[in-house]
Amino acid sequence: MTNALDAIWVIDEEGIIRFVNPAAEALTGYDRSELVNQPLAKILPPDIAAVHNDHLKRYLEAGPQFHIMGAVREFAIVARDGEEIPVGLRAFEIPPPDDKRCFGAIMQDYRPRKKLEAERDTLLARLAAEALSDALTGLPNRRAFMDELDRVQAAMRRSAVPASIAVIDIDHFKQVNDTYGHGAGDATLRALADVLRETLRGEDFLARIGGEEFALVLRSAELGIAGRIAERMRERVAQTPIELPEGQTIHITISIGVAPFSPSCRDQACLKAADKALYKAKNGGRNRVCIACQEHAATCAAAAVL
Ligand code: GH3
Ligand code: MG
Ligand code: MG
Repeated sequence: MTNALDAIWVIDEEGIIRFVNPAAEALTGYDRSELVNQPLAKILPPDIAAVHNDHLKRYLEAGPQFHIMGAVREFAIVARDGEEIPVGLRAFEIPPPDDKRCFGAIMQDYRPRKKLEAERDTLLARLAAEALSDALTGLPNRRAFMDELDRVQAAMRRSAVPASIAVIDIDHFKQVNDTYGHGAGDATLRALADVLRETLRGEDFLARIGGEEFALVLRSAELGIAGRIAERMRERVAQTPIELPEGQTIHITISIGVAPFSPSCRDQACLKAADKALYKAKNGGRNRVCIACQEHAATCAAAAVL
C-alpha cells in the first residue's frame, strides 16, 4: 500500500482518517501527521464534505443496498495549497481494526484526464467553428448560411416578421486575378468582406457562399428596406479603395440581387430568386442592385436600379 501510485485512504465510520499512503501525502501536499486522526472533511470542499458525510451515514444505516461502495465516483479534494483537485474514487469496506467500522478508498488524480478532456473539447469546438467558417475572410460559409436560413424561417413561423436575402457578386473579378495575381485577388476578397461587414446592421447575417459570391440574410427587413441596405453596400464598395499587398490601389464594384425570404421557401427557391435578380443586375450593366418580384416569378425591371 505504501508503494501504490494511487492515493489510499482509510477512514472510520465517523469520517476520521486512520491511514494514508505516500501517494495521498503527495497528492494533497499534507504530511501524514497532518492527516491521520483528522476528519476527512479537512481535504474536501465544503459542499462535497456535506454530501460525503450524508452518504456515509446512509450507508451505515442502510447497508450495502445503498450503493456507494465499489463504483468509481468523481469529486474533488482541496490540497494543502488550496488547489481543488478533481479525483476519481472507489470506496470499499474493510475488516474493522477495532470497534469502529472502517472504509478504504483508492483515489486517482484526475487532473491529467481533465486536461485532456478540456483540450479535446476545445479542439472539437474549433473544428465545429471551422466547419461553418470561411478560412479566407473569416465569414460564415455556405453551410452556415443555409443553417441561418433555417433559423430565420423558424423565427418567422413563430412571429410574422418579414425578411429578405441578397446575393452579392464581384464584377469582373477575374480581371483582378488576371492583372494582379491570385494573391491580390484573395486580398480583395478579404477587403470586400471588411467593407460589407461595416455596412451591416446587428441582425444581418453575411456569409461567403462561393468563390467571389457573398450572401446576406436581412432579418425584419421587407424588400424595400433590404433594397436600400443593398444599395448602401453597393455604393460603399464602389467608393472604397482597396490596397493590394504589393502597394497598388484598385476599385471594385459589386452587383446584388435581392429577394424576399419567406417561411414557405423550399429547396432554396428564395436564394434562386435572388440569384436570378443578380443575373439581371449583371445583364443590366453591373454595379447595381436588382430586386426580385415579391412572388419570385421574375425580376422586376422597373425596380432594377434603386
Ligand atoms: P462577373 O462580373 O460576370 O461576375 O465576372 P467575374 O470575372 O467576376 O466572374 P467569373 O465567374 O468569370 O470569374 C470569377 C473569378 O473568381 C474566377 C476565379 O478565379 C475567381 N475566384 C473564385 N474564388 C477565388 C478565390 O478564392 N480567390 C481568388 N483570388 N479568386 C477566386
Ligand atoms: Mg463575379
Ligand atoms: Mg460569381
